[in-house]
Amino acid sequence: MPELHEHVERIYAEVARRNPGEDEFHQAVFEVLHSLSPVVSKHPEYVDSAVIRRLCEPERQIIFRVPWVDDDGNVQINRGFRVEFNSALGPFKGGLRFHPSVNLGIVKFLGFEQIFKNSLTGMPIGGGKGGSDFDPKGRSESEVMRFCQSFMTELYRHLGEYTDVPAGDIGVGTREIGYLFGQYKRITNRYESGTLTGKGLTWGGSQVRTEATGYGTVYFLNEMLRAGRQSFEGKQVVVSGSGNVAIYAIQKIHQLGGTVVACSDSGGYVRDQTGIDVELLKEVKEARRGRVSDYAILRGDEATFVEHGRVWEVPCDIAVPCATQNELDEDDALRLAKSGCRIVVEGANMPCTPKAVKVFSESGVLFAPGKAVNAGGVATSALEMQQNASRDSWTFQETEVRLAEIMSRIHERCLTTADQYDRPGDYVSGANIAGFIQVADAMLALGVI
Ligand code: GLU
Repeated sequence: MPELHEHVERIYAEVARRNPGEDEFHQAVFEVLHSLSPVVSKHPEYVDSAVIRRLCEPERQIIFRVPWVDDDGNVQINRGFRVEFNSALGPFKGGLRFHPSVNLGIVKFLGFEQIFKNSLTGMPIGGGKGGSDFDPKGRSESEVMRFCQSFMTELYRHLGEYTDVPAGDIGVGTREIGYLFGQYKRITNRYESGTLTGKGLTWGGSQVRTEATGYGTVYFLNEMLRAGRQSFEGKQVVVSGSGNVAIYAIQKIHQLGGTVVACSDSGGYVRDQTGIDVELLKEVKEARRGRVSDYAILRGDEATFVEHGRVWEVPCDIAVPCATQNELDEDDALRLAKSGCRIVVEGANMPCTPKAVKVFSESGVLFAPGKAVNAGGVATSALEMQQNASRDSWTFQETEVRLAEIMSRIHERCLTTADQYDRPGDYVSGANIAGFIQVADAMLALGVI
């Protein structure tokens, strides 16, 4: 790795010192700062105006108590977060994650990534993220509803179509967005559709939003294949996870002619050499809220479930991590490279550890980062905001065409920028630099605020 420019090195040291214990946030900042070293050398104006230092400090961080009563009558207390990271390009925009692992450092890493991701979409959205350490697993419908209502009772005062627009992430889907939106509407006495995205189709949601992150990931991958004069035909793909991103990535890979031979959840992975039956997977995960082990049982002889196994053991041409941060480590990367995997794209946010990414670059595995690859979700959220603002609703086909165009533009932007900074084919540098420059120029234009 080339040396860090001394200006960004100082910033990194400051971030690490001022945000103790927030390892994922440090990791996300380090990766971006690393890519920015050549930009700083070329553009002293970003140093003079302290744009990078300002970018690393969230505009506002909200932490709040979320009390609620469970089905047994016990009072439960969770912690809620919203990190409003940067609004130079538009209202804060980013999902809410409900998962026991959520803490301030996780939300800050996600919010920081979101700034560059949202910038790359070319749409007028700033970066933010939120969530709670609430664990929806095993909770009843009414417990989830009561939790969402309590969460929104505090958060609503910070939201608005011109201020901050949350959506879903891990543990937050259409059901939760419904309860959140219902409570927002009740408190404010206003039907402000543009305040939340990922809504249901009959109450202001957009076609393709559910599919968008997974579909967008595969559109990006398809652009990478095309740039290398290849296609999905005959390719074996391993997808980790089995949530919203994974399901629709699998569906689109199959539509484009590839075969997904394995997917996973926290209990293990399922291998299905003839290709994952995506309709069955949807039934198990979405309708029954079940596990991939249930999928394996229902699928019969075609499938094998490996309890607690690592999905990256399965040989493939392409790997698409779609579960969570740091799920693919150095050993997994070495195993993938050895088994002949040639392309890795991040469907999740930062699923590959820095050491894994280093292995990919040293072994000639083409790698693209989440902030470019999975930007289709938030881009379609911005399309949802457009439809809400104009009180319109577009067809599935129209919306999908828009998504495909956006992904192709992001891919193009990554490659062109990487070329400009003498890093041809380096999607990490391309994404970080292109995302950064647009936000940084807006921050310069808006003054020291
Ligand atoms: N949580 C998604 C992401 O990581 C979507 C955010 C949104 O639609 O606002 O980008």
